[in-house]
Amino acid sequence: MALEKYHAKRKFSETSEPSGKISKQPAANSKQPAFVVQKHQAQNLHFDFRLEHDGVLASWAIPKGPPEKIGEKRLAVQVEDHPVEYAKFEGEIPEGQYGAGTVEIWDSGTYKLLKWDEKVVEFVLSGKKMTGRYSLIKTTGYSKNAWILIKQKPKSLFKTSLQE
Ligand code: MN
Repeated sequence: MALEKYHAKRKFSETSEPSGKISKQPAANSKQPAFVVQKHQAQNLHFDFRLEHDGVLASWAIPKGPPEKIGEKRLAVQVEDHPVEYAKFEGEIPEGQYGAGTVEIWDSGTYKLLKWDEKVVEFVLSGKKMTGRYSLIKTTGYSKNAWILIKQKPKSLFKTSLQE
């Protein structure tokens, strides 16, 4: 996890996005890490899905928005890690700057991590719009950064209690 790519893409004298650094504190005032979804009206409308992890926000751009129904799958393209402060960012990125357009927070909350490895990230979200169990699965052979975000069935109470 690192922010070099995030910093290299932006001119902080021009954009009001936070420059940020790797955080040692959890973003939310909670034991659980934060997640945020930002609706980003850039050249193409997309939704940026971010999970606080290892002091940064691991980030994916979802062109069609998060899945709404159980079993639904959406392409999620992994992008550069963002600083934890970015979870609070809303506003205009000026023309000529990377990601120029409007950013608004579409959903936010906390999540419980179930699994995080190079190919699978599984978690339970507690947001206003996104709640329940989701998986991010890295695809093979399609594109280096392509993942699929899937809304999963809730596990039975028995299985959930075993995991806790
Ligand atoms: Mn974006």
